[in-house]
Amino acid sequence: MIRPFENTLAFSRQADELDSLKTFRDKFYIPQHQGRKVVYFTGNSLGLQPKTTASYIQQELNDWATFGVEGHFLAKNPWMPYHELLTEKMAKLVGAKNEEVVMMNQLTVNLHLLMVSFYRPSPTRYKILCEAKAFPSDQYALQSQLQFHSFDVNEALIEIAPRQGEFHIRHEDILEAIETHGNTIALIMIGGVNYFSGQVFDMKAITQAGHKVGALVGFDLAHAAGNIKLNLHDWEVDFAAWCSYKYLNSGPGGVAGAFIHQKHVNNAELPQFAGWWGHDKNTRFLMDNTFVPIPSAERWQLSNAPILSMAACLASLDIFNEVGMDTLIEKSKHLTAYLEFIVTQLNTKKNNCLQIITPPQNRGCQLSIVAKGYGKPLYEKLMANGVIPDWREPNVIRCAPVPLYNSFEDVYRFGEILEALL
Ligand SMILES: *Cc1c(COP(=O)(O)O)cnc(C)c1O
Repeated sequence: MIRPFENTLAFSRQADELDSLKTFRDKFYIPQHQGRKVVYFTGNSLGLQPKTTASYIQQELNDWATFGVEGHFLAKNPWMPYHELLTEKMAKLVGAKNEEVVMMNQLTVNLHLLMVSFYRPSPTRYKILCEAKAFPSDQYALQSQLQFHSFDVNEALIEIAPRQGEFHIRHEDILEAIETHGNTIALIMIGGVNYFSGQVFDMKAITQAGHKVGALVGFDLAHAAGNIKLNLHDWEVDFAAWCSYKYLNSGPGGVAGAFIHQKHVNNAELPQFAGWWGHDKNTRFLMDNTFVPIPSAERWQLSNAPILSMAACLASLDIFNEVGMDTLIEKSKHLTAYLEFIVTQLNTKKNNCLQIITPPQNRGCQLSIVAKGYGKPLYEKLMANGVIPDWREPNVIRCAPVPLYNSFEDVYRFGEILEALL
C-alpha cells in the first residue's frame, strides 16, 4: 500500500492497481445508478451477490428436478449432509474448531436457542449484562428471555452505555460493571461489533472477566463475521451466533451461524431444545423416541437444512476461503484508513461538520459518521448521487467499505460526492 494518502482520483486508481485483491471486485454484481456502478457502502447490511451464487443454487434446483426426494442421497452434493460442506469453511473465518460450528436457522432464532442452553438463571444469579443500544432484535431477545424466566427486565438487565458526551463504550466500564454485579450475573451477551458505532469489543478480555465472576459469555457476531479477526475457540467464548447476509454475502435472510465451545458440546447436563436434525446421524431414521445428541454444535440443529439458502452461503464462503481473513483484513485496514483520511480532510475544509464516532483503535471496516447540522436529507442526497451508505436514527451515516468488492476509487468518489453536498 502506498502512503501518504492523497485525495485524488489518480491516487485512488493507483492504490487499486496495487491491490492484491483487485480481481475480487469483478466476482460480484454491483448495483448501478444512471448507468454507473454505485458506491456500495452497505455490505454491513446486505452483502453483494457473488456472480457464482446462481450456479450453486442452480445445481440444487437441477438435482431436485432430476432426483426428487432421492436428491438427499444422489445429488452432486447430497442434501442429507449438505450443511457439513459449510462447516469447516465457516469455522475458519471465526477461529473455531469444526465441531464448534453449525450453520442453521436465522440469527435471532439461534440467539434464543443458545440462551435456552446458556442462560440458566438461579434466584441469586440471574442478571444479563449487555451493551446499551444493542441491535433491537438482540434487546427484544434478551428482554423476552428475562421475562420468560419471570425476572424484572429493569432490574435484571444491565446495560453498559457510553459516558455522557461520548460515543463508544469504555472497556474499563464494561470490566467494572462485570466486577460490580459479580456473582449475580448469569450471562454476558454483547455484540462483538456494535452495529451503530462500529466499535469492536475486546471479546477475549470480556470473556475472561465474565468467567472470573462465574458468568457465561456469548457474542452476537452479526457485524463481526467476515469483517474482523475472530478466535472464538482460543478466547474461550461460550457461544456465539451471527447472520451470513451482511459481510458474508449469502443473500437476504441467508442461513445463520452458531458457535458452541468445544467444552460444552458434549456436556450431557446442558439442557437444550431438541429436534431430529440434532439427533445422532446413524440412528436418526430409526425414528426412535429417545433423543441422542450429536456430540458437536450440530446437536442444536432442529430441522433439516434449507438447501437453497445453504447453496448461496457456500458460494460466498468459497470466495472467503480463497482469500482468507488475514489478507482481507489487511486490505480492510488500508481501505478504511483511506476513508478516514478523506473524511478528515473534508471535515477541515467544511468547518468541522463531520465527526467519525467509530473508535480508531477498535474498528472493522465500518465508519459511522455524524454530519452536524445536516440530518437525513444529506443521506438522501448521497443516495440520489449514486452512493449507498445507510442511515441510522438519530443522526448517523454508516459507511462500510468492504475489502472484497469495494475499491479505493469508491472511497475517493464518496469523498468527491460528499464534498459537493456539504
Ligand atoms: C443484523 C442483525 C440482526 C438481525 O437479526 P435476524 O435474526 O438475522 O433478522 C440481529 N442482531 C444484530 C446485532 C444484527 O446486526
